[in-house]
Amino acid sequence: MSASKLRQKKSAPAFESWGRYPRLPATLVPLYWMEEFPPADRPVASMLPVGMGRSYGDVCLLENGTLLHTTTLDRFIGFDPKTGLLRCEAGVTLAEILKFAVPLGWFLPVTPGTKFVTVGGAIANDIHGKNHHVAGTFGRHVPRFELVRSDGMRLECSPIQNSDWYAATIGGMGLTGLITWAEVQLRPIVSRKIVYHGTKFVGVDAFLELSQGAKNAEYSVAWIDCVAQGKNFARGIFMRGDHSPEPSILKPSRDPRLTLPVDLPSVLLNKYTVEAFNALYYRKQLGREKRALVDYEPFFYPLDSILHWNRLYGKDGLLQFQCVLPFEDGQQGILRILKAITSSGLASFLAVIKVFGDVPSPGMMSFPAPGITLALDFPVRRDVSFDLLERLAYITVEHHGKMYPAKDACMTALQFQSFYPQWREFAHYVDPAFSSSFWQRVSGVGAINLAAATSTAGLGNALV
Ligand SMILES: Cc1cc2nc3c(=O)[nH]c(=O)nc-3n(C[C@H](O)[C@H](O)[C@H](O)COP(=O)(O)OP(=O)(O)OC[C@H]3O[C@@H](n4cnc5c(N)ncnc54)[C@H](O)[C@@H]3O)c2cc1C
Repeated sequence: MSASKLRQKKSAPAFESWGRYPRLPATLVPLYWMEEFPPADRPVASMLPVGMGRSYGDVCLLENGTLLHTTTLDRFIGFDPKTGLLRCEAGVTLAEILKFAVPLGWFLPVTPGTKFVTVGGAIANDIHGKNHHVAGTFGRHVPRFELVRSDGMRLECSPIQNSDWYAATIGGMGLTGLITWAEVQLRPIVSRKIVYHGTKFVGVDAFLELSQGAKNAEYSVAWIDCVAQGKNFARGIFMRGDHSPEPSILKPSRDPRLTLPVDLPSVLLNKYTVEAFNALYYRKQLGREKRALVDYEPFFYPLDSILHWNRLYGKDGLLQFQCVLPFEDGQQGILRILKAITSSGLASFLAVIKVFGDVPSPGMMSFPAPGITLALDFPVRRDVSFDLLERLAYITVEHHGKMYPAKDACMTALQFQSFYPQWREFAHYVDPAFSSSFWQRVSGVGAINLAAATSTAGLGNALV
């Protein structure tokens, strides 16, 4: 790729991530070949790799910069059917891996709540899934990848080769350079089915007790009702699952057929409609316990069957908030968060609570840590939503927790730096030509100044 191609700014349209907030102008340049990067002559000042844009805030956006679009780097490179080790380009999606691997009896080692994310994006956010308590993060299952820097340096990274770059890039939010290819260690399955067990609960205590009892389950997560009050406060459904040990035909999945074609008026999503939805959802499981054999698609990806479901929130978009609070007094913190939501009058439609385990993440900046994690989303409503998010961030700080950059559009530099004190060490690995709007917001330094800034003693003052 030539520098002139990188520099070409046609009309700089605005880009948005899954949350649709913020919308920022940038130039999109698709990468078709791994060798296209870096450009032959001097590169443009500021760029960022992007995958499927399934992050919620601005971690995959760069205002007035160049977005290196990687979904065109979508080739499989090699697969060992005996060991399940896959090597592919970084723009291959988890959906494409499942389509290829499930019929052969292999499954993803870790998967988020959508399969429409790229391998590069999964590494850069070091994503977690419902099996975090036993499997840790995605990065743990990536034995090797290639990182290419804007100066042309190509680094093969593994826990023993360029191990510092390996640690900085897993969870490195796309800032350390471009991941061109990666290896992913898949896990064997004999069936598409998941042995499911759902249990209704009321209260955070009850949720924690169920989590404790499900330590050996491969997958566990709970949906929690953030609107119900009184005797129903913090009610929810705890969901456990294990891959079925009974062999059955491993057919490939069908592509989603439904799509939400237009933005719905955001007024449709209010406290009352969410209240009604939550009541229905809670009652959809009739008894306290439910056991069933279910397909993996609805178990892992309940929303993927409707493409563009983010349009439900109207054209102003949605704000996600995800925190993890350490176990010690984390329960009190979760209760404070739930109370802050009910008293704000806003309602979260999708509220998910889970216990993270103590399997260490390989990434220097990875989000997961032992404790209770809560993920919520709110429609963007000027004043109310931002005020609430500020309050939730404050509670997170007070309970010594941290927030997830992949789900964030609001945290301040001070908050980020208290959540991730290792960010200073990380800053040394940031490619001087790479940046994101998230990074500029939380570090206070643009890409061009960063290399210089990190070597000066005044960095702390400039950033905090
Ligand atoms: C419905 C839904 C459910 C979700 N559930 C979960 C969940 O359970 N757990 C979880 O952890 N996350 C979850 N997420 C968030 C999502 O998994 C992450 O944001 C993921 O990283 C998105 O991947 P992407 O390909 O869309 O990357 P993008 O959002 O496009 O980019 C993410 C980051 O990766 C970087 N990047 C992308 N490609 C490369 C590359 N080739 N080289 C270097 N850097 C690169 C980008 O710069 C950016 O910083 C969910 C998102 C949605 C929409």
